[in-house]
Amino acid sequence: MKHNYIPLARPYIDEHDKQAVINVLDSRQISLGPTQIQFERVFKSFVKTQYACAVSNGTTGLHLAVRALGLQKGDEVITTSFSFIASTNCLLYEGIKPVFVDIEKDTYNIDPKKIEKAITKKTKAILVVHIFGQPATMDAILKIARKYKLRIIEDACESLGAQYNSKPVGSFGDVSVFAFYANKIITTGEGGMIVTNNKKVYEYCASARNQGRSLTNEWLHHIRLGYNYRMSDMQAALGISQLKKIRFFIEQRRKIALWYNRHLSSISSLTLPQIGKNRSHVWFLYTIRAPQEKRDYLIKQLGKYGVQSKAYFPPIHEQPYIQTKKYFLPETIAVSATTIALPMYVEMQEKDVIYIASVIKKFLP
Ligand SMILES: *Cc1c(COP(=O)(O)O)cnc(C)c1O
Repeated sequence: MKHNYIPLARPYIDEHDKQAVINVLDSRQISLGPTQIQFERVFKSFVKTQYACAVSNGTTGLHLAVRALGLQKGDEVITTSFSFIASTNCLLYEGIKPVFVDIEKDTYNIDPKKIEKAITKKTKAILVVHIFGQPATMDAILKIARKYKLRIIEDACESLGAQYNSKPVGSFGDVSVFAFYANKIITTGEGGMIVTNNKKVYEYCASARNQGRSLTNEWLHHIRLGYNYRMSDMQAALGISQLKKIRFFIEQRRKIALWYNRHLSSISSLTLPQIGKNRSHVWFLYTIRAPQEKRDYLIKQLGKYGVQSKAYFPPIHEQPYIQTKKYFLPETIAVSATTIALPMYVEMQEKDVIYIASVIKKFLP
């Protein structure tokens, strides 16, 4: 059974992508130029929001989103512990307390049935993460937000192109954030995008990403504390070129997920990914659950056979630097102790999936 190395993720870059970046370099307008504005224009029309604001990465986007809503020290925000660390760090930067609520065991997203119990007088918002490419149960979450007058931030960094009730993720929240790191649905190397229908939120983000500069073009006129969270025009050019291919990217990822379903379905000790009602999945990752006592061993064996796989995600509330009261999050704990993310990238072929399934079968007959 000889096979080349199969990575967990790999960006798809073609000649159009390369040419788009070269064109910007040739233009000499490589930052604060027209290409960033053009990327924002095509992006907001894809996600169906009124405003889009390009930033340096998803984490800085989330930080500005939190600040744009006026959340501050002492406030509480309800979120999930089963996520990438950035979705909690953006709260900690501002001294906001993350309040972790358990997840649904089928979608791995925050469980709306458990949100109300976690609401206190200090709760200001719900930070929803659409994990692994699958939208959270948005109708129930929006209902709670309306009832308790809470703001919604969507961390859609892993789920560009996914829909809930035929509406794109990122179009539900007061403010939403996407990311374009090398392993995301589309990539700009590093990059992010904040989207919103709220003009004030947009204006804050557009100013704060550029050192708090006034948006009315007065040179070096700074009206608030800001940051350098800008995206370059080379990155934006890559973003535009990548976004043109997103239907193809998602189609490929769906095809690969179906291959995995087919070739892994005979292994009875595995739990394959489930899709919740009324939503579409874009398969940022294809994540299986293995018996807990075999999980780490299986990851190691896959590695020996040239297949990269990872235990996604260790719970955020168990990270050494996070000091929180003890949480009772049984589904989060059970899911994170058993998940394995398998390789998922646009150029994967069915023979790769067959090979990966054959390695898994060796160790989980
Ligand atoms: C990738 C990601 C982010 C943002 O990451 P950056 O590396 O800063 O672009 C935020 N939240 C989640 C859930 C992510 O997967």
